[in-house]
Amino acid sequence: MRFYVTTAIDYVNAKPHIGHAYEKVIADIIARFQRLRGKKVFFLTGTDENAQKNSQAAKEAGIPTKKFVDRNVKYFKELTGILNISNDHFIRTTEESHIKISQNIFKKVLDKGDIYKGFYQGLYCEGCESYLTEKDLVDGKCPEHQKPPKPLKEEAYFFKLSKYKDQIIKLLESPTFVIPKEKRNEMLSRIKSDELKDLCVSRKGLNWGIDIPVDKKHKIYVWFDALINYVSALDYPDGKKFKEFWPADAHVIGKGINWFHSVIWPAMLISAGIKPPRTILVHGYLTVNGQKISKSLGAQIDPAEIVKRYEADHLRYFFAKEIPMGEDGDFSSKNLADRVNNELVANISNFCYRTLSFINRYSESRIGKIARGEWEKKLLKEIEKKIENIHKCYLDYNFRDAIKQILEIGDIGNRYFQGNEPWVLIKNDPGKCKEVLAFSANIVKDLAILLKPIIPEFAGKVEKQLNLKDLKWRDLKKPLENHRTGKAKILFRKIEGKVS
Ligand SMILES: [Zn+2]
Repeated sequence: MRFYVTTAIDYVNAKPHIGHAYEKVIADIIARFQRLRGKKVFFLTGTDENAQKNSQAAKEAGIPTKKFVDRNVKYFKELTGILNISNDHFIRTTEESHIKISQNIFKKVLDKGDIYKGFYQGLYCEGCESYLTEKDLVDGKCPEHQKPPKPLKEEAYFFKLSKYKDQIIKLLESPTFVIPKEKRNEMLSRIKSDELKDLCVSRKGLNWGIDIPVDKKHKIYVWFDALINYVSALDYPDGKKFKEFWPADAHVIGKGINWFHSVIWPAMLISAGIKPPRTILVHGYLTVNGQKISKSLGAQIDPAEIVKRYEADHLRYFFAKEIPMGEDGDFSSKNLADRVNNELVANISNFCYRTLSFINRYSESRIGKIARGEWEKKLLKEIEKKIENIHKCYLDYNFRDAIKQILEIGDIGNRYFQGNEPWVLIKNDPGKCKEVLAFSANIVKDLAILLKPIIPEFAGKVEKQLNLKDLKWRDLKKPLENHRTGKAKILFRKIEGKVS
C-alpha cells in the first residue's frame, strides 16, 4: 500500500534547465498515479550539493561555496512549484542529518571490510567527477564533457565493488530492475564484459564535501554520498519513514547515471545490509530544436520561461506524450503548440466544455438519469477496455500509450455528442437530451481521472466544474447520477500567433 519514488538529485552549479523539468515531471506523474489508485506515496527530490563542480562554479562566480549553493537551490525549489510537482520532501545533501547518515554508512561498509586504503592512479574527468577508463573516451575526450581527463595519482579509499559482481548480475537479470530493457541490457553487457574494478570512494585535499569519519584528510567521493540521499531522506536506519518506505519502488534517472544507480548503488546497499531498490527507471536526454542543451540556448531551455509563455499542464502533457520512456526526445515550441491545439484543445477540452456548458444550459446544471441504450452499452464496453489498458500503461511507465488511449476515449465522447446533436434533441425530446448529456458527463469525469497524473491543473478544474472533489481511480467505476454541477469554463485555449 506504499510507494516510494525519487528523482536524481541535481547539481546546483547552474540554474535548472528543461532536462531537469522533464525528469521531475516523469517522477511526478508516477507519484500522482500511485496516489490516485490509493497508495500512500513518498516522493523525494532534491539537490546534490557536495560536488566539486558546485565549488568550482562558486569560485568562478566569486562567491563562497555555501552561499552560492544556497542561492541556486532556490531555483530548483521554485521549479517544483512552477511545474506543479507534488514532492513530499526536498533533500539537500549539505544538511546535517544527511552528512551524519552518509558517514554512518561509510563507516558501516568500512567496518565490514568492504572499504580499504590504497593508491589510485587514473584519468579523472572533473565534469563527471569520476575516473574514466581508456574505453570510456572518444578521441581522448570524455564523451559527456568533450574534455580530455587529467592523469591523477593519490592515496585513496576503495570500495570492494568487485565482490558484489555476481549479486549485481543477478539483480540485473530481473526484468523489472532496470526499465526499459534496452538500458538494462546495456548494464548487463558492460558488467559481464568488464572486469568489475573496485571503486575509489575518497578524494584528498578538497575543502568542500563530507569528511571521511576516520580520516579527515579525505572527503567522501561525492557519488557515494549523493546516492545515500535516497535513504538519508527517510532517516535511515531508525526513522519511521525508512521502515515504511524502503526499498524504493522507482528511482527515476537520466541515462548518463544508470551505472551509478543500477550497479554501484545496489552494491553499496548490500554491503551496508540494506535492501536494493526495486526499479531504476531510465529516461533519455532532451534536445531543444534539435540542439544539445547548453547555456548558449538561454531562455529557450529555461522551464520557468517556457511555463510563463504557456502553462505547466502544456509542458507536462508534451513530455508525457512526445517522448517515449527511455528514448531521447526533442522539445520545440511548435510541437508543443501542435499537441496542445490538436489534442488538448480540439479533443479533450472541446468535449468537456461542450458537455458541461450544455448541462448548465439545458439540464439546469444537473446530471440526471444516464442514457443506457444499445449505443451507450457498446461505448461503455469500449471505454472500459481502454481504461484497463491505460491502467497497465501507467504501471509500465508508458505514458505515451496511456495518452493515446485517453485521446481515443475523448474521440468516443466527441462522436457521441456530435452524433446525438443535443442542440436539436433539446427541442424534440428534452428528456432524452438530458440523458445523453448525463452519459457524456460521465465520460468527462473519466477523462479528468485518467489525465489527473499528467495534467493535474486541468483535472482540478474539471472536478470543480463537476462539483466533485479528490476523484480517485476507483471512481471510474462509479456512475455519476442525480448530481448538481458547477459552472462550465473553457479548460484549454488554443495557442495562437507565432511560436518560436
Ligand atoms: Zn566527463
